[in-house]
Amino acid sequence: MDQAKMNAFLDSYHLVMIWGSLAFVIVAILIYLWHNLKVLTISDFKAKYDYLNENEIKHLKWSFYSLAVTVFMLVNLYGRGIDFDEVWFGVRLFMSLALGTLFGYVFNLIMRYYYPSKLDAKLKKWRFTPRINPKTGNKMRLLSEDEEDVHLDEGMQAEEEAFSIDYDVWMDEETGDVKIEKYQGHLQALQCNNCGFHTMKVTKEEIVKEPTKTEDGELIKHYSCGYCGSIRATKFNIAALDQHYDHIDINKVKFDHKRIVSSVKIEIMASDGHKKVYSFQSVELATAFLDEFDYEKILD
Ligand SMILES: [Zn+2]
Repeated sequence: MDQAKMNAFLDSYHLVMIWGSLAFVIVAILIYLWHNLKVLTISDFKAKYDYLNENEIKHLKWSFYSLAVTVFMLVNLYGRGIDFDEVWFGVRLFMSLALGTLFGYVFNLIMRYYYPSKLDAKLKKWRFTPRINPKTGNKMRLLSEDEEDVHLDEGMQAEEEAFSIDYDVWMDEETGDVKIEKYQGHLQALQCNNCGFHTMKVTKEEIVKEPTKTEDGELIKHYSCGYCGSIRATKFNIAALDQHYDHIDINKVKFDHKRIVSSVKIEIMASDGHKKVYSFQSVELATAFLDEFDYEKILD
């Protein structure tokens, strides 16, 4: 091949690299913008949470892989204007491949080991931002673990007890409307005690002892770190089945489980912040008290 022909080839090769690098930068920016725009347009916080949890790392990776291709193409423009030389061309091609791969690899490491803790903070924000009741526009309140059980059916409660599933119950205290959201605990990575990265995930959950009506059961969760490979197993108690009834609504308790209730505690909180707690030995006594209850009479 004569030099003039090879120089012509080199010119078109450089042209492809110029336009290609431009195109891949644009692709990277578009993926990034599209992802963030999508997040902005999801108005439901739980849906936003799910979307981020599932896609944020995936989309950012694609965006940076596009940048890695850009790096590859830009390095291929180094020394443009010099006559074609096989060795020079080959060495440059090799260097560009190495640098492009390194760029992508480093970013991959960041996304795997560093970014999850960032994402975790983001996810927490959307999980715990007060929900708005669409019917009334009221701010809802996140119920505590104890309060929420009334609103979860037995299957949901069992799931919560046993597996890495969390139900969040939001309540509009004016209307009593509830919104129940389900979270998969095992999808979210925890911080590893050994290496400190947020790469600890539940790999297996096994019930080693089924709970009975009166006795607690046992559950073992196996964790494994995706970075350093350290493993951990933690034992959890599964509450005895009858304990659930502590939280179930009072009518159910009265009719079905009279015998197992040993005491009933009633806490009355007035809108002025005053609080009174009463204890009763049976549901009947508590009910009788509530029937005759008159706040004015108990004021000190
Ligand atoms: Zn680790």
